Amino acid sequence: MQGKQPFWDSYFRQTDLNNCDKEPIHSIGYIQDHGTLISCDIQSKLIVRCSENCHLLFGKGPLGLLGKPITRVIDAQIIAEVYNELESSDSMFCEYMEGNERWLLIGHQSGNELVLEFESYDAKVSLLEYQSRLAGMLKSLEQSKSVEKICDKAAHLVKKYTGYDRVMVYRFDEDWNGNVIAEQKKEGLEPWLGLHFPASDIPRQARKLFQLNGARLVRDVNSRPVHLVSLDSETLIGPLDQSLSELRSVSPIHIEYLTNMKVRSTFTIAVLCEGRLWGLIACHHYTDRFINYYHRMSFKFLAQAFAVRVQLLEANLQLKKAKQSSLIRSELMKQVIESQDLLKGLSKSEYTISDLTDCKGAAVCYNGDISTMGDCPDKAEIRVLLRVISSMSEGAEYHTTHFVKDCQETRDYKKAVSGVLCLFISKANSEALIWFKPEVTQAIRWAGKPEKLGDGMRLSPRKSFSKWVEIKKGYAEPWGNNELSAARSLQKDILNLIAQKYEEAKRLNKKLKKAYANLESFSYSLSHDLQAPLRGIDGFAQIIKEEYYSILDDLGKSSIQTIISSVEKMNVLIDDMLKYSGISHRPLQIIQFSLQEAVLELLPLLETSYPNVTLRMSETPILMRGDRSIILLLLKNLLENAFKYSAKKAASMVTVGEERGSVYFVKDNGIGFDASYQKKIFSPFQRLVNEGEYPGTGIGLAIAKRVIDQHGGKIWAESTMGMGSTFYFELGDGLC
Ligand code: ADP
Repeated sequence: MQGKQPFWDSYFRQTDLNNCDKEPIHSIGYIQDHGTLISCDIQSKLIVRCSENCHLLFGKGPLGLLGKPITRVIDAQIIAEVYNELESSDSMFCEYMEGNERWLLIGHQSGNELVLEFESYDAKVSLLEYQSRLAGMLKSLEQSKSVEKICDKAAHLVKKYTGYDRVMVYRFDEDWNGNVIAEQKKEGLEPWLGLHFPASDIPRQARKLFQLNGARLVRDVNSRPVHLVSLDSETLIGPLDQSLSELRSVSPIHIEYLTNMKVRSTFTIAVLCEGRLWGLIACHHYTDRFINYYHRMSFKFLAQAFAVRVQLLEANLQLKKAKQSSLIRSELMKQVIESQDLLKGLSKSEYTISDLTDCKGAAVCYNGDISTMGDCPDKAEIRVLLRVISSMSEGAEYHTTHFVKDCQETRDYKKAVSGVLCLFISKANSEALIWFKPEVTQAIRWAGKPEKLGDGMRLSPRKSFSKWVEIKKGYAEPWGNNELSAARSLQKDILNLIAQKYEEAKRLNKKLKKAYANLESFSYSLSHDLQAPLRGIDGFAQIIKEEYYSILDDLGKSSIQTIISSVEKMNVLIDDMLKYSGISHRPLQIIQFSLQEAVLELLPLLETSYPNVTLRMSETPILMRGDRSIILLLLKNLLENAFKYSAKKAASMVTVGEERGSVYFVKDNGIGFDASYQKKIFSPFQRLVNEGEYPGTGIGLAIAKRVIDQHGGKIWAESTMGMGSTFYFELGDGLC
């Protein structure tokens, strides 16, 4: 057996788990024994390398050939043709007669060497026949309408025309594990359809060679490899790169692997889609088997046609799905625009985001609210989940088929959320679209346990091919490219819409501000202009009262009295309005001043109107920074209210002070108000009392609020009916 030979022993010594990816299978230094190899230096045309069995074809061993001109053994005209053909192609072939024996010469260039390989050729089938067979095969592939059907058809055709015992169409997944998706086999063999083969079965460098060569024949794993002998020792000219060689011998590791499977001969054809290895058409035979180069080329061509057809069918399917999802997307956006409500439009209308993917549940999280569809976690769980995803993912997208791996907390509801696809609308606000796929317990039938470690550190191909079922838990079906791109497009549409709305809102806000400013100056001038006619009315009413009062009857007297008091009221109102509008009409003049002094300035007027109310202030000076003149206005209104609304109580008391540093307050023990009006009372003309009982205009607190707004501060009230009220205020940062 080969394992006993010195070559294999040294080979094994060189190859272990640390360098298995570097196993030099492309420069193995041996060829298979069904052919002969000879190479010459491109420039000098002197023979530099040949296989030990060269005497079979040339009647001389390596010693008789090495160093001699190649034209000494091969007709100069043939050599000239080879050179000529290789100028425009990577490889060439032609029939070659040696005596009565018919050979096939296959030539290519490797480094500085022209490599000529000779395979015996029986020519039982004519070239024309190969061509017509191929045409027939291509036609029947054309008729297959789905990927599954075309794979079955390809396996069937290859089995029929190659005669191998087993033909499999083998597809790679994204981790380079292979899955047998179609199979044709000799009766009596156990089926391998549906089996998964671990990626280590076809290592990286072997995949690379398949990609380069397209097809590979291993005639008989039991045959004796033939050594390549070079003119100088290999250290001088280096090993031959056999990547393009047809006769390249088989890696001992692969031989052991096939022997474990009891397979003696293989023919493997690469299926390349857009330059990437999509899969393989793998043929196994349980005795030795050889198919000639023409034949091999036909299947290489067939695999290319197969790949194009598969690509076309898959592209059509993707296109169909893409069309459907683009339709759903536009319906979703229509719903959002019509309802003016993102949550409703995406989750509570005819179409929902769950229609966009093959999910079982989905959720829309927007504006602090969550709307769920189908089978998914509850809202509290979704909030936790969003937090986890947000901390884990860097960008605006996250997807997985195995969520438990990323989030331990979800163990309890993992069945519904093994697959998660989350696209953020705003990560900062935890706004996102989420799709869920449930756990699907998968039984993967591996063709043998993927064991790598053999005896010691040596790479050992798998010993057992008995089927081994791996149960994968916590995994969902994968997210297809079409699902991902549909979800991403929807995310983009939504972000565009939000950006549009934001721009619109900005425009409206600008307009509103302008309209508001116009209204302000209008009301200011209106109030101002009303003062003169009012003064006129008041003047005339006073004249009537003073000069003609005695001749008026009772109705006349009371009417003149009503005119005078109404004018007075109107004056107070206009005065308040002017103050209110005036606050925003002048720039702030910030100074530091004493709160107590400001209050004392206002006190005389208050004491005259409400003599029974006591005012309390702390002795320690309280300093504040702000525009003193308008802060006086604020204090006046707060104090006036405190005095007014507590004056009717026995032992009424008003306290002014500061707490928690820079929070000022005016507190009374008066009538209080319903706490639900806490905010409303700061709007103009909001009064909670009877005009007759407590006179007022309803503008005082609006003025106070405006003073605070001008300072960038805050004002608020706390109150209980019948128990008094406290008004607090802060001046803006940097001002107090
Ligand atoms: P008004 O001229 O009516 O006092 P304000 O704008 O100053 O107008 O106050 C609005 C309303 O808030 C008042 O009508 C009153 O109902 C309530 N209010 C304000 N301050 C107090 C207070 N200290 N105690 C009880 N109610 C108050």
